[in-house]
Amino acid sequence: MNAPIKLQERFHKVQLEPKDYRDGVASFWCPGCGHSGVLTSFLRSLSEIGVEPENLVSISGIGCSSRLPYFVKSYKMHTLHGRAGPVATGAQLARPDLAVVVTGGDGDGFSIGGGHMPHMARKNVNMTYILMDNHVYGLTKGQTSPTSHRIMKGSVTPFGAVEEPLDPIMYMLTYGATFVGQAFAGNVKLASQLIKEGMEHKGFSFINLLSHCPTYNEIDTAKVFKSACETLDVGHDVTDVSIAMQVVQKAKQEGRIPTGLLYKVERPTLDERMAELVTRVGGHKDYDLRKVIDLSRP
Ligand code: SF4
Ligand code: MG
Repeated sequence: MNAPIKLQERFHKVQLEPKDYRDGVASFWCPGCGHSGVLTSFLRSLSEIGVEPENLVSISGIGCSSRLPYFVKSYKMHTLHGRAGPVATGAQLARPDLAVVVTGGDGDGFSIGGGHMPHMARKNVNMTYILMDNHVYGLTKGQTSPTSHRIMKGSVTPFGAVEEPLDPIMYMLTYGATFVGQAFAGNVKLASQLIKEGMEHKGFSFINLLSHCPTYNEIDTAKVFKSACETLDVGHDVTDVSIAMQVVQKAKQEGRIPTGLLYKVERPTLDERMAELVTRVGGHKDYDLRKVIDLSRP
């Protein structure tokens, strides 16, 4: 297994414009969709990092947002619904020298793939997860998702949702993600900065981008997201998880959305720990389970 190294040390930095990372496939998102802002931000961060497209792996599940890899020059996989995370984890462990990025929606990540999210975070898989959070299922025509507001009327809940929404930020802070950030998808400057920092972070970086769906979500409009996100000035100790949680909870109580870098710490990544384990037991060829497990125990 290759020794894990920081992203900026892995590649020859190339001088490419954001447009150079754009694959030729025409966008099939609706006009005005917030996901276009996510794509613009992602392309800008790739250009600023200078990663070669052949060293980038873009992986998604199913949904409008999960189409993003089509539009990015990279190795890519459009996987099963909710399964982008496990596939990306495998890709990252097999090739820790590559930059692995997952893009997907709130339903794909926190409903169908919800069982995987805590484990990517606690294992500190060295990759970036960009959640394109529009609080609705867009591809399947407007059902409420795990992040929908309780009052939201969806195509199969015409009198409003009855469940409380899940908070992706609190979830990730709770489960041990080592980099957590949030931005409005229309704020390309902040979103691209967070993606760049997240990709350069050694460990599991989670970036929640609030991305409006003008076709199926009438309450979380671009205007609503923009005004809620702009009102908060986050300036706290980002290495203290309890402070990060307090900042998030306080903002929520005041009807605001905390944006920017919310939490960041360093701890060993999954590939580092596996590399250390392989070294400790003598490498792949001589691997002997009896060296590390006492088989005589009942
Ligand atoms: Fe975007 Fe919504 Fe259209 Fe999907 S349905 S492409 S999320 S605007
Ligand atoms: Mg969605």
